[in-house]
Amino acid sequence: MNKYAEVAVDVPVTKFDKVYDYKIPADMKDKLQIGMAVRVPFGKLKPSSFVLNIKETTKVQEDKIKTIDSFISEEKFFEKKDLHLYRWVSDYYCTLLINVIKAAVPTAVYRGNIKKKTVKKVYLKAPEDEIKMILNKLKNRAPSQYKVMKFFQEHPNTKLRVRDLVGNLEVYRGAVDSLVDKNFLDFETNVIRRIADRDFDSQLVEDLTPTPSQKKVLNKINKGFLDKKSVTYLLHGVTGSGKTEVYMQLIRNVLENKKGAILLVPEISLTPLMVKRFYSRFKGKIAVLHSALSSGERYDEWRRIKKGDAQIVIGARSAIFAPVKNLGLIIIDEEHENSYKQSTHPYYHAREVAKKRAEINNIDLVLGSATPSLESYYKAKTGVYQYLSLPVRIENKEMPPVKIINMTEELKKGNPSIFSMYLQNNLQKTLKNDEQAILFLNRRGYSNFVLCRSCGQVIKCDECDISMTYHQNRDKLICHYCGNTKDMPKYCPNCSSKYIKDFGIGTERIEKEVNKLFPEAVVSRMDYDTTTKKGAHRKILNKLENNEIDILVGTQMVAKGHDYPNISLVGVVTADTIINLPDFRSAERTFQLLTQVAGRTGRGKKVGNVVIQTYNPDHYSVLAAKEHDYQYFFKKEIRLRKALNYPPFIHLIKITTVHQNKNKAEKAARKLYNYLKDCKAKKIIGPSPAPIERIRGEYRVQILLKFAIIEERKKLLVDLKEGFLKKLSTNVKYNIDVDPISML
Ligand code: ADP
Ligand code: ZN
Ligand code: ZN
Repeated sequence: MNKYAEVAVDVPVTKFDKVYDYKIPADMKDKLQIGMAVRVPFGKLKPSSFVLNIKETTKVQEDKIKTIDSFISEEKFFEKKDLHLYRWVSDYYCTLLINVIKAAVPTAVYRGNIKKKTVKKVYLKAPEDEIKMILNKLKNRAPSQYKVMKFFQEHPNTKLRVRDLVGNLEVYRGAVDSLVDKNFLDFETNVIRRIADRDFDSQLVEDLTPTPSQKKVLNKINKGFLDKKSVTYLLHGVTGSGKTEVYMQLIRNVLENKKGAILLVPEISLTPLMVKRFYSRFKGKIAVLHSALSSGERYDEWRRIKKGDAQIVIGARSAIFAPVKNLGLIIIDEEHENSYKQSTHPYYHAREVAKKRAEINNIDLVLGSATPSLESYYKAKTGVYQYLSLPVRIENKEMPPVKIINMTEELKKGNPSIFSMYLQNNLQKTLKNDEQAILFLNRRGYSNFVLCRSCGQVIKCDECDISMTYHQNRDKLICHYCGNTKDMPKYCPNCSSKYIKDFGIGTERIEKEVNKLFPEAVVSRMDYDTTTKKGAHRKILNKLENNEIDILVGTQMVAKGHDYPNISLVGVVTADTIINLPDFRSAERTFQLLTQVAGRTGRGKKVGNVVIQTYNPDHYSVLAAKEHDYQYFFKKEIRLRKALNYPPFIHLIKITTVHQNKNKAEKAARKLYNYLKDCKAKKIIGPSPAPIERIRGEYRVQILLKFAIIEERKKLLVDLKEGFLKKLSTNVKYNIDVDPISML
């Protein structure tokens, strides 16, 4: 008998365990299954919960056990196999199982408060041979009904929205209702999808004939497709080498084997062209999942995947949990991107989750990149991953030449502008040739800080320990961490001097400077501020595609996989903002971003041209990007990582204690340190104030643990979860970030 259910309860209590036993009420016994969502009594609440297990016995005493209240939905949100994956994530990342389930199953889906979107259509019910007779009857008595029936006489197999029918024929709605009452017509209600394919209404096109290198890659992966062994491939292909084409043909093979596929992309709203290419190959078989969807849209897409209507999922990070039927392959494009790591609870990395999911399902994982993460490349070198490469661009197109401009020299030559003479001349040339240019900077806003030149005071956010950024179009200072705004002060708040000024540069400032230099050019900006509205990215990129923009200024967003043939110049306004970040991955980030952004040019018939401005012209990340030389970069960087004890040689955990009261955060961190100090970590750094000590008014104290042996780290995390954290009774937050990607 199924008497008890083990459920994970969604309540915000501090206790590090939210799995409890409940009694199954009689009327639910036949229906309740693992993966369903129910409401259970919990204190005074009736929180939503997920069924993890159904069993005959419980350790809870009969008079203490409570009974499940009701179903939220009689739908299974996950299978046993999925639960296996969720448990792994929960253990590996030292986070609550319920948090993982909530990351995997969209809230909109399990809360059940979103209705299916339906459309009502009307169609002919009466037999065709009776229509003539019906028309005769209606002719003089009911002209509107006559009109409608006449329409169906001419189009007997049509199904039409009532609204459209009534509108087109210019009749009253009542006419349709009367005909339905008379059984001549009938209604049909269908569930429809909120995202329309019309956005991607492209013609179906055939696969391209693969080049010899593409063929080699395809054969290699497809040959092992049906093996029971899970293999991870690292597909290292320079920008424009035809990786996307490979993905599409791999997926073709997956579909032919009656299986489904997941393709992860870093930011789906930034890659409309890529999505469009997939639609033109696979049309109705695709579902998209990303953060810009409305709850209703997400609900629809999730259902289509679950039902097997969509066999291909294209999505951002959380799509790695998509309930694809009979999953056959996972592909991660731009696998090095940081957006695959979630920066809040649960701090999972989609690449690691993908690897585990592939293992559980005995399927392969393909990691693609022009600039693989150091970790992945190292694994490929040491035989953990299989290395595959696409070493040259399609049609053997040259990689664009990269010119490095030393900005110190520029100033010496008497040019104080943010643009070197070389970049200015090249912009001029590009405009003259009716070609397009991209100017890249990884800072939005007008300037990146405001400083008093008398006393050196920098204006900081009141809530965060970070300098505020001046945004000229709003004439406000904005905190990029919490969104707080302030007026730009006329006098220094510290010493009342009037020599307070904005320094540094942001995208807004660049846009303005370009406008000043080239008043005849059409300049557009793409950054966080110009793309908050839904569909804004696509609008800008459409304009770029249609040649309605001469110069596009932007942040990281412009560096992503766009493929526009008329872009012949890419200018990096300054490479230094990334190089100088206090993070062991800053060189890697610099190399990746410079290479990615350089890859945006030279894709068409014309030769592209890349200009990198910097005060660090000799930095190895800049030099490697100039030569398009991944190996050179890897050799330099891997040596440093080894010497300084950083990944991939070391396994990190970053624990941050967070509280409004500085003292409490510090005390909690010290307590934790005392617990940790005898563990088998190679090194423990801290507790010390986090590099950004305060965010949104909360203080942050940090401990960094370095493990040489991953098993030791695993042991500690279990200890933490089952011991230290379970016994805590405090309102201090302990943020445990396993394999952190940012040290800030
Ligand atoms: P990547 O994803 O590596 O940047 P893409 O797949 O976007 O590369 O390919 C770059 C360009 O080359 C695209 O315009 C694509 O249509 C074209 N291309 C890719 N594979 C082939 C092929 N086998 N034959 C002809 N053109 C191709
Ligand atoms: Zn702030
Ligand atoms: Zn001052």
